[in-house]
Amino acid sequence: MSRIKKSCAPRYARWLQSTNNITQQFLAIGGRQDFVSLAGGLPASELYPIELMREAMDRALTRWGSHALEYGPVEGFPALRDAIARRMSRMTGRRFAVGNILITTGAMQGLDLMGKVLLDPGDLVVAQFPTYLGALDAWRARQPVYEKLTWDLDRPGFDEALRRAKFAYAVPNYSNPTGVLVPTPARQLLLEKVVEAGTLLVEDDPYLPLQLDGAPGPSMLAIDSAMGEQAPYRGSVVYLGTLSKSVVPGLRVGWLVADPELVQTLAVAKQSSDISSSMLTHALALEFVDSTFEEQHAPKVVAVYRERRNALLHAAEEYLSDWFEWDVPPGGMFVWMRARDGTGAPVINTNDLYAYAVDEKVAFVPSSVFDFEGRLTTAMRVNFSRSSPEVIAEGVRRLRRAVERYLTSNSRVPPSLSRASF
Ligand code: PMP
Repeated sequence: MSRIKKSCAPRYARWLQSTNNITQQFLAIGGRQDFVSLAGGLPASELYPIELMREAMDRALTRWGSHALEYGPVEGFPALRDAIARRMSRMTGRRFAVGNILITTGAMQGLDLMGKVLLDPGDLVVAQFPTYLGALDAWRARQPVYEKLTWDLDRPGFDEALRRAKFAYAVPNYSNPTGVLVPTPARQLLLEKVVEAGTLLVEDDPYLPLQLDGAPGPSMLAIDSAMGEQAPYRGSVVYLGTLSKSVVPGLRVGWLVADPELVQTLAVAKQSSDISSSMLTHALALEFVDSTFEEQHAPKVVAVYRERRNALLHAAEEYLSDWFEWDVPPGGMFVWMRARDGTGAPVINTNDLYAYAVDEKVAFVPSSVFDFEGRLTTAMRVNFSRSSPEVIAEGVRRLRRAVERYLTSNSRVPPSLSRASF
């Protein structure tokens, strides 16, 4: 019997209509030699500890043998959970139990799992604004609605929004995309309001190790912990940590700290995603977590990033300050550049500028992707961690040419330039 092959067009789920492929675009651009990418949030790869990684892998295999090569507990490799519980206890001054810890495939999986177990379509998330685009990506399929968290916490309606919210979301340390460091009193006030409202706070803290100008404030988990007693912690904060900035992002090892019951529920959701994370990478990660590596490595990373941030600010002052303004980020990986007002309105729409920038072979991230409504078109996120000071300066010169062409073209994107699709 001959079978006629019909063409099969997948009938995609509706939520995909509201998504974008900007992260893939940036990763693709990041790999091109002719481009200067000031877009992604990638670490300086020349600082990756390749030799130490090789030795650590050898030690991990010798130490754990076949245990490192099995499917493992969905909550994570027990010894790594234990080490993270000890780390979080040192960091907060409160004892965390292993049951408080879920090891995740990067902090990104923690965001995804929170969406999976808490969000039904139409549920409310109160999210720090502008919002990390990976968080918006992680929750898009759940179809939540958003309320902005802009740190004017006493504004009318905010308490009520928190009462309705499934959770609030904040990146208090050197936020992505703005680089903002939230002051301690604002952290305290937000936490009080979260507790009062009976909701949860997701504290996403990947940039903690990247302290360029002094130490940050206490984590909101630490503030909440100070209110409670012994392990296990049963508070209102869900804390997300990661090794992506302090070791390497390719390990894909992050962790989540929460009430043990929530950890178990998240573990059920994780099981349906990946059965378990890779025990081999957990065993490898343990070699770094259980050593002084991060303590010794962080100052080197910080020194390099500080120099790069300063190079970016210096070049931007020279080439972009007619059209953009910014605050100096005290840590992290990004400068948030806001278009200056012209006669009453910002001169530049960064969605349109992006097409000119790509034509000049430089990339940044337009602000619209950090807005759940896509309306914020007056700013851009510029990365300084990935490239050398010279490359950063060249990128900024290209950006200036892009701005000049954009402005002389009367702000219209010519047909030869593909308008960015996000
Ligand atoms: N949260 C924020 C705010 C981030 O910027 C990132 C990416 N750097 C993540 C989470 C995801 O990190 P990970 O590599 O641990 O998945």
